[in-house]
Amino acid sequence: MQMSSREFNKDKENDFSSWYNTIIYAADLADIRYNVQGFVVHKPWSMKVFKKLYKLFETELEKYGHEPVSFPTVIPEDNFEVEKEHAEGFTPEVYWITKQGEHDMARRLALRPTSETAFYQMYNLWVKSHSDLPIKYYQSCTVFRNESETNPFMRGCEFMWIETHNVFANEKEARAQVEEDKKILEKCAEVMCLPFYFFKRPQWDKFAGAVETYATDIMLPDGKTLQFATTHYLGANFTKAFNVKYNDENGKEHSPHSTCFGPGIWRMMAALIATHGDNKGLVFPFALAPLQTIIIPIPKTGEEKNIEKYCMEIKEELEANGVECKVDDSTKTPGYKYNFWELKGVPLRIEIGAREAKEKTATIVRRDNRDKTTCKFSEMAGNVKETGAKLDKDLLKKAQDDLEDKVKTAKTKEEVGKALDAKCYAKTFICSTEKEGVKCSQELQAFTKGGKVRGELVGEKKVSGKCCVCGKTGAQVYIARQY
Ligand SMILES: [Zn+2]
Repeated sequence: MQMSSREFNKDKENDFSSWYNTIIYAADLADIRYNVQGFVVHKPWSMKVFKKLYKLFETELEKYGHEPVSFPTVIPEDNFEVEKEHAEGFTPEVYWITKQGEHDMARRLALRPTSETAFYQMYNLWVKSHSDLPIKYYQSCTVFRNESETNPFMRGCEFMWIETHNVFANEKEARAQVEEDKKILEKCAEVMCLPFYFFKRPQWDKFAGAVETYATDIMLPDGKTLQFATTHYLGANFTKAFNVKYNDENGKEHSPHSTCFGPGIWRMMAALIATHGDNKGLVFPFALAPLQTIIIPIPKTGEEKNIEKYCMEIKEELEANGVECKVDDSTKTPGYKYNFWELKGVPLRIEIGAREAKEKTATIVRRDNRDKTTCKFSEMAGNVKETGAKLDKDLLKKAQDDLEDKVKTAKTKEEVGKALDAKCYAKTFICSTEKEGVKCSQELQAFTKGGKVRGELVGEKKVSGKCCVCGKTGAQVYIARQY
């Protein structure tokens, strides 16, 4: 089911939730009518982008020495219980397989909610000596979580991601991997045109079983932050729990340190939709668009054949130069076609009328700001690629400027509440000891109706100040409402 953008009339700025839910089916990205609640059917228009997102991250991970593997979807319950904190943290979210044909199973199998306890079972067998390290493996897969409230690409019972599980000889190398994860994110985020904040999460709100958790956040137009990747320094918690050991050159035994990194491919789609779209529909970056250029013939009586032939020449020329394009030769009017492909977020449109066909020129129109340029056929492929790159650069700049405007400093919990109501992050101080931190952050969350401590911004100079709740000395943190 699709609609033209004449029918798509939603106010993104003031009614984001309705805008978002309507664009999902209006642009034919996904169908939520599958008859298991919380599980989504992905349509071609989103799958083409998902394939590019996976490729983007996989290529970057492999540049940094990660290698692909594929692990079973099921994890036996006894694996799951090895790391106590991890088991307690994840058990409420797990789907269990309890039957095999007609028979009850001797041990339950979990559908993986995350795969540490599958990987470390095998790392126990694979790691013997220092020469076996480091191990940097990743898998691209879906994971399963029992969620009551779901929303396509934001929160689902099954969603797409990549997970890396990395083992190192010592703490120093493992911590360097956290830095490297951030670098990988920076490179990929530039292609997605998405600016982000990289927070060190508070101790009382970290991944179950981790020593430290880092979250990659993007602010959506409704003022709620979306975490689209996490990286965890696990210390020796998982290697000790799974008895993963290695001998150094002198034969001395050590427990390796480890990390994991989860780029949330599914949530990146949500971030792309939410950040770049406008009231006419989606706007995809040129580098990741499901279709990069749409060619639209503007018919003129008597000239149809020439126009049609010239459109096909353009298509061949662009494809020969690596640009994904299509000619919309349907019987709809040009105006209808403009609206339709704008709704779908195709970054560039080429309009071809009788004059362009005769003079061998083309008019290129940008989706984001509707800027028009005209060029000769011989310059067209280069021009399309340049215009696409410029569009991506401008999308990133706009998103960066928006993000800078979305941080307000706050001294009191009242000021934090005001910043959140203005759809911003509040930059403030909160008690950093675990006991006081939990208490003050809970009080703040209740007072601000959902404001959560996202953490300390990595890379920002550490300063301390008065806790916005109790007035004692605390660390500088960012607060936001969140998805
Ligand atoms: Zn406090």
